[in-house]
Amino acid sequence: MKTMFNATPSPEEFQRQLSEFMRKNFPGVTNPSFATNPSDGDEEGGEAVGPKTSGDFDFRFKPRDVKAHLDRYVIKQDEAKKVLSVALCDHYNQVRFARAGRQTANYAKQNIILVGPTGVGKTYLIRSVADLIGVPFVKGDATKFSETGYVGGDVEDLVRELVRRADGDVERAQYGIIYIDEIDKIATSSTSGGRDVSGRGVQTNLLKLMEETEVAARAPNDIAGQIQAMMEVQRGAGGGKKQAATINTKHILFIVSGAFDGLQKIVQRRLREAVIGFAAPTRVVADEEVLREAQTRDFIDFGFEPEFIGRLPVRVHCHALNTDDLFQILQGSEGSIIRQYEQDFAAYNIEVLFREDGLRRIAELAAEEKTGARGLMTVCERVFRDFKFELPSTVVKQIVITRELVDSPATALKTLLAERDKQERAVMTQVVREFAQRFRESFGLALVFTDDAAEHLVTLAIAQNKTVRDLCGEKFKDFHFGLKLLAQNTAQTEFTIDRAVVDAPEKALSEWVVASYRQ
Ligand code: ADP
Repeated sequence: MKTMFNATPSPEEFQRQLSEFMRKNFPGVTNPSFATNPSDGDEEGGEAVGPKTSGDFDFRFKPRDVKAHLDRYVIKQDEAKKVLSVALCDHYNQVRFARAGRQTANYAKQNIILVGPTGVGKTYLIRSVADLIGVPFVKGDATKFSETGYVGGDVEDLVRELVRRADGDVERAQYGIIYIDEIDKIATSSTSGGRDVSGRGVQTNLLKLMEETEVAARAPNDIAGQIQAMMEVQRGAGGGKKQAATINTKHILFIVSGAFDGLQKIVQRRLREAVIGFAAPTRVVADEEVLREAQTRDFIDFGFEPEFIGRLPVRVHCHALNTDDLFQILQGSEGSIIRQYEQDFAAYNIEVLFREDGLRRIAELAAEEKTGARGLMTVCERVFRDFKFELPSTVVKQIVITRELVDSPATALKTLLAERDKQERAVMTQVVREFAQRFRESFGLALVFTDDAAEHLVTLAIAQNKTVRDLCGEKFKDFHFGLKLLAQNTAQTEFTIDRAVVDAPEKALSEWVVASYRQ
């Protein structure tokens, strides 16, 4: 601790020492700000992509460009892509205007609600779009927030996380994207399975952020950060680049999402009641389409505060994915999980060929999981688990993924290994014959291996982890001396090697030689 008082340590050194001190003296206190290596990409810290470029932000995309980019990665969800593209372009054009000092008065921010089941590409859409535009992106989970912050996670932490994702560039963070999943879990109505009272508090906190507020760049419980800020103030202007004390949320784009189970019923009821009330002709709305009809009042019935839902003017619906969609994701999308498996195997020089019937079967099984495209990962993991374990240590260099293999991977793996075994043994038997051939060429004496003896040599070589050529060399190393003697005594030049000879070659040879003298 001496250095602490001798000279002002660097902020990093100070943070390290303070972290160490806290860890030793208050092991129960967890404070993410003490982490010297912040975790990347996990749910707690938020999933994120960083800005592509530093320098000035210059947004020049048109909705069609954005959609074309999304089409490369995300299958289906056409309507969602269009609505998102338009909302994003509007938002970032406004950001551009604001930066040029000519923003529309009373501009209403295009915050977005994404409604849709899990694993259908909601996050993927937003992540891809943030990537394209090059703005920082943070994903959070509404179930982790608590009304008062500090217990679970504070909604303001997401804003601070954006700064981290922008490499400390507050300016860039101020037009990043915050994506909050499971927003339906902070609804307050008991019918929606929300969490009532505390849900309302979280909504209020979020509402403040979505409108416009200043968030302290350092969390109030971030002791190290606070002290560091104090030190920066003490050092004055000479302390290098000063970080802004607050982050303004006016231009941060908020996207919230959830499955909204139960919303469909609410919309359906309203549509039915409208029909009765006004004696209008019955409108038949297909189940899948009902959610597209969702209006502000339905979200309020679901358990959102009117002000909260009012700040989320763009409503987008993402569809469930059927077998065909999942097949297309496997076959067509640029980020397909199949590419990943091809790479994983290629690392061991194993080539994988996914046949169409194999892919289709994976898609069918994934659809049964009812977790959208996440089902593809579950199924692939289950199917390829043992192949990934076994194949790298074998000589197998190719596998073809068929429907049969996907249906019974264990059997397919066994057959593959047995087949490979058979081929391997055939090659090794050939080597035994070749050994005999060379023996004849070198010494003019013929060793005739019985099939049984050749097989036995192969089995022994595999068991002893030797090449069969080395094993033959060892077993028959003195044979040319003995057999030459024998040939002189009897004129015999051809010798049968059976299993017994393989097992005890020296004994067999000496018996043969002794017998030849008797003759
Ligand atoms: P959620 O809708 O729950 O946010 P994600 O976007 O996280 O789901 O999807 C999980 C993964 O599944 C993605 O990373 C992506 O690989 C894949 N995926 C999901 N939907 C699609 C889609 N429509 N097209 C291509 N891949 C998809």
